Amino acid sequence: MNDKIMIDIDGVIRDWTGSVYSVLKKYYPNEAPTESPIITSWNIEEFYPNIYGFHHLVFDTHAEEICYSAKVLPFVHRALNMLRANKIEIILNSHQTPNMLEGTSKYLLINNIEYDYFIVSNNKSKRFDNITLIDDKFSNCDPRYNDILINLPHNREDIYRGERADNLYYAVKKYLELNL
Ligand SMILES: [Mg+2]
Repeated sequence: MNDKIMIDIDGVIRDWTGSVYSVLKKYYPNEAPTESPIITSWNIEEFYPNIYGFHHLVFDTHAEEICYSAKVLPFVHRALNMLRANKIEIILNSHQTPNMLEGTSKYLLINNIEYDYFIVSNNKSKRFDNITLIDDKFSNCDPRYNDILINLPHNREDIYRGERADNLYYAVKKYLELNL
């Protein structure tokens, strides 16, 4: 079996969209929606119609805070421990702007997320080896590598021919069942 696995960060390890809401609410209480919106499409901006300059605020101005103050998604530590116990190397792979990267490095440290490698890339489909990926973005996942798509509202409508799981823990369980 392959002794390495690749894991996306946002939507898989970290609740980035939840943090976008908390931080925008903190700085722009009147413009942010009253409640955290359910993000059902890849274009998160459309859920914040009253936030002027959304992209700049989220990916530059407040990017660092959004990244380090985000919540860890359920059962993430349990899932990572299970991989470690099975001697699987953990490669984190995430697309990050420079300001996000500052916040993400902090985030991984303060939340004690252990990993072996961290790749910052914008193209996960160009794969070295046949490493399985766990990701919440439909277009990153490829059934030929046994990739597992994490179920989130934004990918509910996508038809994926590979496996899906509700969170990282169930995805890792599935991965181990298929690979051991
Ligand atoms: Mg993601």
